[in-house]
Formats: sequence, structure tokens, C-alpha cells
Amino acid sequence: MAEQHADIYPWLLDYWAKLNRYLQHDRLPSALMLHADEGLGLVELACSFANRVCCLQPNNEGMACGQCASCLLFNAGSYPDFYHLQPEDGKSTIRIDAIRELSANLSLSAQYTKPRVVLIDTADAMPHQAANSLLKTLEEPSDNTCLILIAHNLSKVPLTIRSRCQLLSLKTIDRDQACSWLELSGCQQASEYLSLANGAPLLAQNLAQLEALDKQTALFKQLISVFKGQLDPLLFAEACFSHKELPVLQWLIAWFTDALKCAHGCSSDKLIKPSLAIELKILTAKLELKQLHQILDKLMQLSELESTQVNQQLMFEEFAVCCYSLSLTKG
Ligand SMILES: [Zn+2]
Repeated sequence: MAEQHADIYPWLLDYWAKLNRYLQHDRLPSALMLHADEGLGLVELACSFANRVCCLQPNNEGMACGQCASCLLFNAGSYPDFYHLQPEDGKSTIRIDAIRELSANLSLSAQYTKPRVVLIDTADAMPHQAANSLLKTLEEPSDNTCLILIAHNLSKVPLTIRSRCQLLSLKTIDRDQACSWLELSGCQQASEYLSLANGAPLLAQNLAQLEALDKQTALFKQLISVFKGQLDPLLFAEACFSHKELPVLQWLIAWFTDALKCAHGCSSDKLIKPSLAIELKILTAKLELKQLHQILDKLMQLSELESTQVNQQLMFEEFAVCCYSLSLTKG
């Protein structure tokens, strides 16, 4: 049974204990890869660990003291031996220049005697060139330095990088524990939000703050209204676009996947959202199987475009108009 620590999310305590063991045995690896889904708090964990590594007087529970000279610098974001690399605002990847700058810094000696910590957040957000540049740093590790690479999708991390890191994977987390944590943090409908976030508690917390369940229900009703001919598809597109902070495309994909399952005679308990089974019949009454496939294909294409510079409003408008015109053609 792992110890309790207020600063560490409960589902990460075992993970935290593993990291701490490296320090207890004085065997901090030169490169670690922390792997788990998004929304579980790996970055916060890695930062707590980096703080723990640099702390001059860790407390009896193995946590950073928060008061020593190193902790004060660390908490002010100015500890010189901690490097946190992440994509710049609005970008999705880490710049190659940032990796080159890091290599240059690591070639200099450390400012303090404690190990230097580099956090790469994330390793799956590195363009090919940046990954190649990092590889050189991994191949010739600097003295007394630990690189921590966060990875959400291992298949996006080049094998050459992965093979040079000690991998710590977090595959599943305890759902009941995550639910209790969400409830304690003030989330109503904790279980529903956890499902909406595919089991990731921090993502669930964020969605709850955005009142995502209410917005999702309203959006689904609007979609049905488009198919009933009661709502202008352009107004539906506007509603989709107005929820930029929410995974609207993923919701649409889930609804049409369920509609397709219904059309194939699947029982409602096999659906992603069983509670929608009755209303989904409106979609299956209006659309042929072929058309449902067409809409899903379109949504898949759009989700690939989502992270690009494509005009999102136009994208939803085109989709809504396509749904509307298909809904007029059956029978
Ligand atoms: Zn300290």
C-alpha cells in the first residue's frame, strides 16, 4: 500500500513510489520515459519529482520540503538545473531549436550538486529533426542529469528514443478511486464525467468545469432537430463551433457510430451512449446505411484536419449542410 501524499494524485501514488525508489537507492536513470494517457497528471508528477530531486531537505514522507533555497527557487520557476521543454503557446510540437539549446546547456556543468532534471513534455510532440537532436543527448548522457520524457502515445515516439529510456507505464487506474477524488474536488456527476473523459480524472474535472454534459445533451438535441427539419443546419454548425474547448467532433463520431450500430440491429447496451438509443432511431429512420457510413467517413476526415489550420466554422457548416441534405434523400 503506497503512502498518502497530499500533493500527489491518488492514482499516481504507486508510480511516485517507483520514482522515489530510484533516489532511495541512489540510482537515478539518465533517461526515464513516463507513459500514460492524457489527463492523468503525469506532468505535475514529473514536476513534483524534479522538485524532490533538487530539494536539499526532503521531509520524512519523501516529499520536497518547500522551504529550502532550492525549493524556493524551484517554486518560483527559476531553479537553474531544471529544464522544462514543451510546445510554445498555440503550437503542437517542441521546436528543434529548443532541443539544440538544451544540448548546449547540458554540455556546461551543473550549477548545483543535485542532479539536473530535464522534462520533455511530451516526447510524442517532437518533429523528426527535434527527436534526432535529442537522440544525440540521450546517446551521450551528461553527468548527474536525468531526462524525463512524458509520452501519451508510445507509437509516436521513435523506437531509437524509447529504447534509450527506462519506461514506466501506467496502464489502468482505479475507477472508484478516481470517482471519489472527483467527488471530493466538488464534481457533481463524477461517474458520468469520468466516462465522458474515458476514465481520465483531470480531463473529467476540466470537462465538469466547462459543464460539458449539459452542453453535450443540448448539442445532441440540436443534431436531432436538424434531422427532423426543425433547425437550420447553419445554426447547428454555429453551436458546434461555439464549443471550441470541447471535443465536439469526437461526440459526433460517437453518436453516428451508435446510430450505425442501431441500424445494424445492435442492442442498446452495446452502444457508447445507451441512453440515446431511442433518439438515435430518428437518425436511422432518416438515413440509409450507406449514408451513415458517408457521414462517419466525413467526420473521420474532419478529425484528421482538426489540428491543422483548417477553418473550423466552415468545416462544421459543410458537415451540417451535408447531414441536412442526406436527411432529405431517403425513401
Ligand atoms: Zn526543499
